[in-house]
Amino acid sequence: MVIHLNVPLNKTYDAIVVGAGHNGLTAAAYLAGAGLRTLVLERRDIVGGCCVTEEVAPGCKVSTTSYIASMLRPEVIKDLSLAEHGLRMVPCDPAIQVALPGGRVVPWWADRERAVAEFRKFSPKDAETFVRVDDRLKKLARYLQPFFMEPPPEIDTGSIGGWSDLFRVGKRFRGISSAEISELIAFLTGSLGEFLDRNYESDIIKTLFLANNVYGKHGGPYQPGTALGLLFHLLSGGEHELQGFFGHVMGGMGAITQALAAAGKKRGVEICTSAPVSQILTRHGKACGVALDDGTEIRSRTVLSNADPKRTFLGLLSTSELPSEFVHAIRGIKMDGPCAKVNLVLAEEPRFTGTPAGAAALQRTFYTIVPSLEFAERCYDIAKFGDIPEELWVDCVVSSNADDSLAPEGKHILTCFVQYVPYRLREGTWDQKRELLGDRVVRKIGEYAPNVPGSILARQVLTPLDLERTYGLTEGNIFHGDLTLEQLFFMRPVAGWSQYRTPITGLYLCGAGAHPGGGVTGAPGHNAAQQVLRDWKKGRFKEAAA
Ligand SMILES: Cc1cc2nc3c(=O)[nH]c(=O)nc-3n(C[C@H](O)[C@H](O)[C@H](O)COP(=O)(O)OP(=O)(O)OC[C@H]3O[C@@H](n4cnc5c(N)ncnc54)[C@H](O)[C@@H]3O)c2cc1C
Repeated sequence: MVIHLNVPLNKTYDAIVVGAGHNGLTAAAYLAGAGLRTLVLERRDIVGGCCVTEEVAPGCKVSTTSYIASMLRPEVIKDLSLAEHGLRMVPCDPAIQVALPGGRVVPWWADRERAVAEFRKFSPKDAETFVRVDDRLKKLARYLQPFFMEPPPEIDTGSIGGWSDLFRVGKRFRGISSAEISELIAFLTGSLGEFLDRNYESDIIKTLFLANNVYGKHGGPYQPGTALGLLFHLLSGGEHELQGFFGHVMGGMGAITQALAAAGKKRGVEICTSAPVSQILTRHGKACGVALDDGTEIRSRTVLSNADPKRTFLGLLSTSELPSEFVHAIRGIKMDGPCAKVNLVLAEEPRFTGTPAGAAALQRTFYTIVPSLEFAERCYDIAKFGDIPEELWVDCVVSSNADDSLAPEGKHILTCFVQYVPYRLREGTWDQKRELLGDRVVRKIGEYAPNVPGSILARQVLTPLDLERTYGLTEGNIFHGDLTLEQLFFMRPVAGWSQYRTPITGLYLCGAGAHPGGGVTGAPGHNAAQQVLRDWKKGRFKEAAA
């Protein structure tokens, strides 16, 4: 492979970021803003990682992987002036909409009063419960909110740092009642299904919650830990710090990473695409640069990896350089991905049965096809044993209705997130079964929007294997590691290494595999950069790349 880099090879950088996902770009922009000479190296020919807009047919642009911006941190949007660099988001309204068998479409409006009025149609009791529970959940989510933008505590009572971290955590929970602590623990450990069965009577309302809360999660809705999604989605996002924000990004999700790249470049970040890093270079246990696939070596005082933890520690370093218990813990990270994506270009707008006549374009944009909690649980069970479920859970976004610049006039973009599917198939390979998955997804959509199967002009099926091959996600995991309690907070990526540092001095993890985890948030990138800058000020890297 020949790599054409514009970087002077005798130059030493202060920071090299491996990977131009949105977190790598975020970290780079903060570092360059603080005066560090920063280079980003991306293996693909475009920046953005899983936050990209790509052309899948002439003139037809799709958010090929992530498709809704819900948790992009307001701090990142403001600090990096992303609006000035073209970022514009339109709130999803309805925030969620479920298409049910029998031709019924049920919206969950962004405005709470309107949502409650809708819920009342199915159960006045549930509508009242919703108001009470929503207030409680929002309050609990506010306790967790500050942890998003700072390193988790290192629980170590044998050191001053450990005590000061515990003090920091304690302060965040000042004023919390014992009832709230119990509730918080119940949400962190309980299952969404049981929570809904306990609190709500209408199956339709339960389905709306389901559609809102188990995205990309490894586990059916009755699996312990799934209730956490209820809190996660109430963390504020978007420019105006709205709790529970869901947004369509104008120009597709790639507009986020284009804005981040532009913000970085303005601060002096250099970005090279088609530049796969094959090795992180070390000397005496310290990071001192990287080597590319073609053997080119570039020196740097620090290295930040935006690749997932398995790719970083098991692929870019020799495991002999790392403590064996650390390597063991990294190997044990649970991350086989349960999701796929199917992107369609259509000759006409999908017509979902039950959409009210005269519904505005935004109301004709977002449809989740998942009939019930039981359906979702069964679907997961089938996938768990390595089979592709006949009946799939499909989240459909007609993105061309939110943004008509995505497709030429008359054509439409339908982007579909699919769960649950296995990473490891019991029989055959994903190369053999790719089109079977595509067919099942199209058939399922056809049951709810009968004009879709006959109007497909182009189809892209991204199996978990494709997510791994094309986007560099080990085992196709969209979050760089499952978001389960034992892999969160001070245990992300692994216990003892949650503060972005790694056993190699000067090497940091800055992607979704680090706290607070996956989703397009910018938080791991922001937090990792702050950690590098703290260490930088202490003068830890002066001699590293010399
Ligand atoms: C199908 C799908 C749907 C999703 N839907 C949503 C959604 O709607 N909303 C949401 O908020 N989140 C969603 N997510 C999750 C979200 O997109 C990710 O969690 C998030 O984008 C991860 O960002 P990141 O910057 O940490 O890592 P990534 O985006 O994975 O970026 C890592 C980058 O590192 C590069 N890289 C890896 N190894 C090397 C190397 N050796 N050399 C150079 N470069 C390297 C990769 O090519 C990649 O560009 C979805 C993800 C997927 C896959």
